[in-house]
Amino acid sequence: MLYDLHSHSSASDGILSPAALVSRASANNVSVLALTDHDTVAGIHEARAQAERENLQLIAGIEFSSQWQGRSIHIVGLDIDPDSAALQGAVAQQAAVRTRRAERIAAKLERLGFAGALAAAQGFAGDAVIGRPHFARFLVEAGHVKNTEQAFKKYLGAGKAGDIKQDWPDFEQVIAWIHQAGGLAVLAHPCKYKMTRSKLCAMVQAFADLGGDALEVVSGPQSPNQTRDMLGIAVKFGLKVSCGSDFHQPGQVWQELGKFASLPEDVDGIWQNFRANRIGVL
Ligand code: AMP
Ligand code: MN
Ligand code: MN
Ligand code: MN
Repeated sequence: MLYDLHSHSSASDGILSPAALVSRASANNVSVLALTDHDTVAGIHEARAQAERENLQLIAGIEFSSQWQGRSIHIVGLDIDPDSAALQGAVAQQAAVRTRRAERIAAKLERLGFAGALAAAQGFAGDAVIGRPHFARFLVEAGHVKNTEQAFKKYLGAGKAGDIKQDWPDFEQVIAWIHQAGGLAVLAHPCKYKMTRSKLCAMVQAFADLGGDALEVVSGPQSPNQTRDMLGIAVKFGLKVSCGSDFHQPGQVWQELGKFASLPEDVDGIWQNFRANRIGVL
């Protein structure tokens, strides 16, 4: 069984439609795929319908933007009920934060001399929830930077003008939303925050103390050392293990559906707690 429990569609900042994403996962031999768009579940129903046609198990998911000690941190919700009142309320709140944040990012970019940022980013987002990648596309296509990487490095990444993070809800709020929606809370891509080990452990501890369920021990390709290290941290704080590609678009060989570092066979996977796997036990 190949579990890819972190992926994005055009409902947030991914390139493929939810249906195309499911087909690509299926072609890559993924047996269980979680669609985890940023702060939205708008793609779930389309993905689920396609998954039924492709004989793939689709897990309804979301990647919530959260914060801990002033840093922007992502928490994935897996096996949620996307139609629940809790989830719908959460998504509405996050959408309001994103809209306000987009206006603030645009104002900052305008002050730097980049006119028309808001309209352009909104145009790229279309019906999807707006995010920094849409501003990155504006900066690239208007010729202000060479590529997306440079857009984040100079204007949108951590500590830069477009990095407005104080608006996101805290761990407690996000974990509550996920649990109220019947889901499981996963601390996403721990290696991507570039924290010291002691800071990372303090964060994982806080997440576990607040009832978080799992750590995303594997996110894309990573070294066996990193995997061992993250596994050790999951065990230390009593968290289950999750894994996923964090796929956004084709053509990025380091971030492809179903392609990521492998886990030991006997790992304590979060998938054991999915509803479908509990039916036989109840
Ligand atoms: P937001 O959800 O608006 O906070 O934007 C964060 C998203 O931007 C992430 O989920 C990534 O998809 C993307 N991103 C962040 N850093 C970079 C980077 N350095 N290069 C390209 N994309 C990035
Ligand atoms: Mn993204
Ligand atoms: Mn993320
Ligand atoms: Mn992601």
